[in-house]
Amino acid sequence: MSVGCVQQQAHNGTSTATSRYQENVNPQWVRLLSVLRMKVQYTRCLGAELYSAEGRRYLDCFSGYCVHNTGHNHPYVIGALKEELDRYGPAMVQTHALELAGELAARLCAQAGGRLRKVFFCSSGSEGVEAAIKFARAHTGRDALLFLEGAFHGLTCGALSLMGSSFWREGFGSLLPGAEQLPFGSLEALRAKLTTGRYAALFLEPIQGEAGIRFLSTAYLREVQSLCRRFGTVLVADEVQTGLHRTGSFLASQQLGIDPDIVVLAKALSGGLVPSGAVLMTDEIYDSVYGSLQRSIIHTSTYSENALAMRAGLATLQVMVAECLGDRSSRLGVLLLQSLREKLTGFDMIKDVRGLGLFCGVEFGAPTQLRLRIPFEGFLRIHPGMFGQMVVMRLFNEMGVLTQMCGNNFLVLKIAPPLVATEEQIDEAVSAVRHVVEMIHSSMAFWSDALAMARRVLNI
Ligand code: PMP
Repeated sequence: MSVGCVQQQAHNGTSTATSRYQENVNPQWVRLLSVLRMKVQYTRCLGAELYSAEGRRYLDCFSGYCVHNTGHNHPYVIGALKEELDRYGPAMVQTHALELAGELAARLCAQAGGRLRKVFFCSSGSEGVEAAIKFARAHTGRDALLFLEGAFHGLTCGALSLMGSSFWREGFGSLLPGAEQLPFGSLEALRAKLTTGRYAALFLEPIQGEAGIRFLSTAYLREVQSLCRRFGTVLVADEVQTGLHRTGSFLASQQLGIDPDIVVLAKALSGGLVPSGAVLMTDEIYDSVYGSLQRSIIHTSTYSENALAMRAGLATLQVMVAECLGDRSSRLGVLLLQSLREKLTGFDMIKDVRGLGLFCGVEFGAPTQLRLRIPFEGFLRIHPGMFGQMVVMRLFNEMGVLTQMCGNNFLVLKIAPPLVATEEQIDEAVSAVRHVVEMIHSSMAFWSDALAMARRVLNI
């Protein structure tokens, strides 16, 4: 079959494409999207807006888990990729040193503040975390690792060993020995561990994303850094979600007053167009991994420094500077937070609204009113994620706003639009959330619909 025939088929029916996906990729995912009424074929995505085959427009307040900081399909990044392809250059020769990788590494290190001077490129956040585990072990000659309760560092075996929720780990056998969880925010527990001198690294997200946009105090973070330095434990900041201006500054660490030894970046690094990740580290850590000719390629990954990812990374950083996306994230973040707080005060089930830059969470809690508490607790018993999915579904179907609940805390609605969003789009998102929150509190239709969905889910 020619390429033309395949394209023609794809044009002729989205249902064929969907059923092939269902048959050969992930049928359960398709079923879940159907249950949630979120099975949409997107045909065009630009900036913060998504358009479906049915001609509906959605506002993206999810950004593909913080991939689309520069918005969907930014024309400058697309142009840079097209140019790179048209050059017929050394995309993947492997036995050379790609200058583009050097340029991107230099820019990343400069923006990270200068103490981190070497970069290992990879193709995903998890792969970056895997590299950081190896590098911290090589640097310290120790095995054990620490992570915080609620943490999400990825789903490959090493990264999964650092997962602060058992749900993701169950059924996959034994993971890395010596990976230990710390209670969230407890300096006492951390001190007790670090003084043993057994730990290669402490991994943390400066603001926990999947745990519910959860903040550590700056006093805690500062003390973490000082304890890690005192006891020779590498401090690894996983900035896979929080980095690249998502919270305002280039790294969230910079605003929160820590200067980690390793920083892991991914997701937004290549404009949402090419898989890419980067592990930034000090010269000393680099030297303990790659410190001799024999070890010059001791840790590599085939596609890591591919020219398209590097070109996309450079173009993405360029857009971030040219469009002042850091300042924009801070400014719009204040607007988002203030408006959400203003519009959501007084609602029984709103427990907290928090965020930094365009990394924002609305936390729901059990209602005090009996009329709401009975159905709320009923849904929690059916599935802890049921209530949140109903919120997401309503926002999507009725308000045309795409959001998600946090992966390790189903009661926190994450609101993280692309950093190129406009003030009007922020207002639109806030009004949509307010509308759905009002519906939850005033209309029994929300709860009866949720019950119908529960039945559909249980029938699967
Ligand atoms: N770290 C954090 C903080 C993440 O949120 C994620 C993904 N959600 C990862 C690591 C893993 O990234 P990836 O899916 O690209 O492997």
